[in-house]
Amino acid sequence: MDPPASPNLQTSTPNGNINLGPSANPNARPTDFDFLKVIGKGNYGKVLLAKRKSDGKFYAVKVLQKKSILKKKEQNHIMAERNVLLKNVTHPFLVGLRYSFQTSEKLYFVLDYVNGGELFFHLQREHCFLEPRARFYAAEVASAIGYLHSLNIIYRDLKPENILLDCQGHVVLTDFGLCKEGMEPEETTSTFCGTPEYLAPEVLRKQPYDRTVDWWCLGAVLYEMLCGLPPFYSRDVSEMYENILHKPLQIQGGKTVAACDLLHGLLHKDQKKRLGAKADFLEIKNHVFFSPINWDDLYHKRLTPPFNPNVVGPADLRHFDPEFTKEAISSSIGHTPDLTASSCGASSAFLGFSYAPGDENF
Ligand code: AMP
Repeated sequence: MDPPASPNLQTSTPNGNINLGPSANPNARPTDFDFLKVIGKGNYGKVLLAKRKSDGKFYAVKVLQKKSILKKKEQNHIMAERNVLLKNVTHPFLVGLRYSFQTSEKLYFVLDYVNGGELFFHLQREHCFLEPRARFYAAEVASAIGYLHSLNIIYRDLKPENILLDCQGHVVLTDFGLCKEGMEPEETTSTFCGTPEYLAPEVLRKQPYDRTVDWWCLGAVLYEMLCGLPPFYSRDVSEMYENILHKPLQIQGGKTVAACDLLHGLLHKDQKKRLGAKADFLEIKNHVFFSPINWDDLYHKRLTPPFNPNVVGPADLRHFDPEFTKEAISSSIGHTPDLTASSCGASSAFLGFSYAPGDENF
């Protein structure tokens, strides 16, 4: 079922905090969960595998420290992440947010647990993928990006680390921290953000950019899947930026004409001439590289994934980096402080963060 519409009541308090309306989920608590393992780290906190005590269901719970978010003045990004997660729980290739809640110190996102591993993890192990496998992942990613664009959202941070595989091998995009909402087709923004290897030239130049940045990033991810490294890669970051801005795209031999044409189209340095600049996802969908894909079957997960992660159950952590899973879990993560969110000053910045859909299954 669809979640209730997100309270789109953004107002700034005098100290610059964001007020998104009243908390909708006052009853959820960290003590509802057994936190089992750390499975990942993001910019503001950790992602943990957690088992809900009431029904034994497994979730990935993203725990963010309010203090570090406020210190970096990033509350807008976090609320954008929450808003985007709320809007997109129904798309097959976007991670589902079940609910969110907060304590005086932390924000908690309760997400579907996805345990086929990061695409990055598999790519590093295998160096590169053959075209049919890369095509399948690129198509599922493009479908999710096209959907976000249809909601006037740009994703902005597409990279292999944010592309997870589910237990069957389908793509699940996570991390909506850099999403930009309210982007009409012709609209531009100019915030400098993203990950160095995947930055589009216009973002690097600090010029206004639009939704075509996501198609550039899709090109960069596809290139990395096919060739083993990002397209303009150099260990020296300033040289890499120079390459992104000025160096012509080079593609190693052995790739089909269709793959090369798509890469040149997506990685066009001029955003106005980039594939996707005119008709967005439709142009990508209709490119000859994707002609073996039946998009309707793809969307309904009727295509068999080219690789099966072979996980034996939710507790199977073989695809997570032991660097995370062996880490001790801080006792403060599963503990509910005496102060509740509504009685603490710092949490006024995150009013409305808590969210619960009106479905008992959640
Ligand atoms: P993020 O802060 O969203 O970038 O997440 C950091 C890392 O945690 C990701 O790169 C994944 O490895 C892992 N992760 C995030 N969300 C999930 C999820 N829903 N299920 C499993 N692992 C996840």
